[in-house]
Amino acid sequence: MRKPIYLDCHATTPVDERVLDAMLPYFREVFGNPASLGHLYGWEAESAVKLAREAIAQSINATREEIVFTSGATEANNLAIKGVAEAYHQRGRHLITVQTEHSAVLDPCAYLQTLGFEITYLNVQSDGLVDLQQLQQAIRDDTILVSVMAANNEIGVLQPIAEIGQICHDRQVLFHTDAAQAIGKIPLNVESMNIDLMSLTAHKIYGAKGIGALYVRRRNPRVNLAPQLHGGGHERGRRSGTLYTPQIVSFAKALEIAIANQASEQKQALHLRQHLWQRLSELEQIKLNGHPTQRLAGNLNVSFIGINGQALMLALQPVVAVSSGSACSSAKTSPSHVLLALGHSPELAHASIRFGIGRFNDLEQINIVANHVINSVRSLSNRKNQ
Ligand SMILES: *Cc1c(COP(=O)(O)O)cnc(C)c1O
Repeated sequence: MRKPIYLDCHATTPVDERVLDAMLPYFREVFGNPASLGHLYGWEAESAVKLAREAIAQSINATREEIVFTSGATEANNLAIKGVAEAYHQRGRHLITVQTEHSAVLDPCAYLQTLGFEITYLNVQSDGLVDLQQLQQAIRDDTILVSVMAANNEIGVLQPIAEIGQICHDRQVLFHTDAAQAIGKIPLNVESMNIDLMSLTAHKIYGAKGIGALYVRRRNPRVNLAPQLHGGGHERGRRSGTLYTPQIVSFAKALEIAIANQASEQKQALHLRQHLWQRLSELEQIKLNGHPTQRLAGNLNVSFIGINGQALMLALQPVVAVSSGSACSSAKTSPSHVLLALGHSPELAHASIRFGIGRFNDLEQINIVANHVINSVRSLSNRKNQ
C-alpha cells in the first residue's frame, strides 16, 4: 500500500538526512554528559553543545548565555509564561495574550488564572491579525507580560512581531513570542524586534523531536525567570536536567540548513501553495482562512462551505495526510479555537483543512492532492444534493 502524501508539516517534519548524519556520533562515540567536566567524554559533549548553542543564538542575534535548552516549544512556553509570572508577581499580576495562540500558551495562562493572575485574551480581525490599537489599550500598569505568537500553526498568519515588540518596549512590558512555526522560515532578530523571550523547537524544521529552546534576554532589560524544573542547576539554574547532546546537535544542524536555504525554500513552498490554491479555486464554495499574503509560505487553510468535515477527512485520508479544523481530545472532537476566533461557525470550522507544505513536496504531489480534494468535495456535495 502506498502511503498518503504528507502535507502536515505544521504538525511535524521528518528528520533531514543531513541532520541525522550530524547527530548520530553523539549517541555512540561522543556519549558523555556535557556536565561531566572531569574527563574527555564530558568535554567532547560539552564542546558540541557549546557550538550548537552558539549557532542557534547567532541565528536570532542573541548570545549563548541567553539560550535555555528545553524539550520543545511546549516546555519553552510554559517556562516563559509561568517563569515570568512567578518572578514578577509582585510587580503585577496581569498578562496579555491572543485567542488564536497554541494551547501551549493558552493552557499555562489558564493555569495562572487559577492562581489569581488576570489574563486578557485579545481577539483577532477576520484575517487572523492582532489589532495593535487593541493591544495598546489592553496594556495596564500591572501588566507584566505580552505573549503573541510569530506564526500561527493553523492558519499560518504572521503577526506584526516587530511592531508588538516596539509597543511592549515603549511601555516597559516584557514580550514573549512563540516562534515554533516561524523559526527557520522567516528572519527573526531578537534585537531589532524587541523580543524578550522566544520559544523555539527543532521538529518543525526537520530536526529531531524532543528538543527546543527558550531565548531569555540578558540585557535591556534583563529578564528574570523562576525555574519550572528544579534539579542539578543546568542551564544556569533555569532548567535542570542532563542535556541531550544528539538532539541539541540536530537542532543546530536543522536550523543551519533552514537558514542557509531560507529564500529558495520559502519561494518553492509559496509556489506550491499558490498552485494548490489556484487549483482548489475551481470549487465554488471555498474560503481561504487567514490573511492572503501575510502568512507562512507553506500554509494553506481552506474551509469547504456546506461540506461535512468528518466525511471530507475520511475521503482524503488514503491520498493525503492533512489536519482538519477539528481538535481531537481523547473524549470528543471540538472545532478549532483558531477558526472560531475568525468568526467561523463550528460546522465551517470542522469543514476546514490545513495543508502544510514543506521541503520534500513537489508539484506532482500537489496536483495529485488537488485532483483528489476536488473530486472528493464534488462527490460529497453531490451526495448531499441528491
Ligand atoms: C508545534 C508547536 C508548539 C509545540 O511545540 P513542541 O516542540 O512540539 O512542544 C507550540 N507552539 C506552536 C505554534 C507550534 O506550532
